[in-house]
Amino acid sequence: MTTEADAQLVEVVGGGPAGLAAAITLARGGRRVRVHEAQREVGHRFGADLQGLENWSARDDVLDTLRADGIAPTFARLACTHGIAFDAWDRAYPLRGHAPLVYVVERGPGPRSLDTALLQQALALGVEVRFGSRVRQLEKPGILATGPRRADAIAAGYHFDTAQPEGFWLVLDDRVAPAGYAYLLVMGGRGTVKSCLFADFRNQRLYVERTVARFRRLVGLDMRNAHFHAGAGNILLPSSALMQGHAAVGECAGFQDALAGFGMRHAMRSGVLSARALLQGSDYDALWRRDLAGGLQAALVNRALYRRLGNRGYRWLLRAASAARDARAFLRWLYGPGPLSRSLLPWARRRHPGSDVENLAPDRVQPS
Ligand SMILES: Cc1cc2nc3c(=O)[nH]c(=O)nc-3n(C[C@H](O)[C@H](O)[C@H](O)COP(=O)(O)OP(=O)(O)OC[C@H]3O[C@@H](n4cnc5c(N)ncnc54)[C@H](O)[C@@H]3O)c2cc1C
Repeated sequence: MTTEADAQLVEVVGGGPAGLAAAITLARGGRRVRVHEAQREVGHRFGADLQGLENWSARDDVLDTLRADGIAPTFARLACTHGIAFDAWDRAYPLRGHAPLVYVVERGPGPRSLDTALLQQALALGVEVRFGSRVRQLEKPGILATGPRRADAIAAGYHFDTAQPEGFWLVLDDRVAPAGYAYLLVMGGRGTVKSCLFADFRNQRLYVERTVARFRRLVGLDMRNAHFHAGAGNILLPSSALMQGHAAVGECAGFQDALAGFGMRHAMRSGVLSARALLQGSDYDALWRRDLAGGLQAALVNRALYRRLGNRGYRWLLRAASAARDARAFLRWLYGPGPLSRSLLPWARRRHPGSDVENLAPDRVQPS
């Protein structure tokens, strides 16, 4: 027999940023929520990795956007108003913003991580979180937040302890990260160094070792207790983010910055939007299209253009970003939807196989 409480229950599959943001919004809206997380802890696939929460794709600061969405940014973070990028010839380009370009945050189950902050807020609102619960099929309409379903990009490298100063550094060189970029993030005595590659995945180990050697030479990379870590990112631009009648959010829907692989912001935002659609009985596809589609399309066009640039083109891009008085405004312009990105979209879609899927319908929730 179905009780009234059961009828009100919303089930969310996946306890990453997308699923937990959805759960928090639903609980705030008065719904009973159950989150199923396949692993025994949140952020399992990230360990204690560091990531950058981008702060350029919208005029508002991302932390203010989170607060407005009912999510308190209680996680540890490093606000970076400047960083340094290097071209393939080792030339340094300072990147300066009038406001933070990026917030470095910790992922995984640690006490100060983004994942733990979201989990604690969800629990405090009465959300039930079932760890070790892998769901294959949802009976009633719910939310699918199961993360990437294929690899369009790979980030591979190490996380480690370090005595290095805090900050972020980039290298744009196809010899260390084909069609992508290499990065070094340091916060509070912890660091991550990665090659983020969009091609030639088979040789990821080679690119990782080249990345480490490059940062040793350029900034004296200091790594202690290094652990290898790698993960995949999924980029799609679906015409509908409904999967078997459920709202798909975050990377499960392929919502990811196609140019550089920043997915956390889209994950949390789409989670919030899916919950609002459920609470209001409104159309989730209409909500995410209005909020996210323009930026996702521009990023897909940027990715197709970036692939054609090569090392000389990356150098030109770095010069332009470094010459800008406010690198944050430059990046917002780059990521902004406009007539040019709209006209190039069909061309960009043809260059990114799978980005033009008509819908997300798989035969089950997540490949095992
Ligand atoms: C190495 C690496 C570095 C990255 N760096 C950045 C960065 O610097 N900035 C940035 O913005 N983004 C970055 N990203 C991308 C970012 O991590 C993702 O976009 C973001 O985590 C997506 O959130 P999500 O909630 O959609 O998915 P996830 O974080 O993957 O969460 C999905 C959850 O669902 C669970 N799950 C899966 N299947 C099931 C099932 N059937 N039943 C129950 N639970 C299930 C998983 O265990 C997981 O906990 C990086 C990704 C990688 C791999």
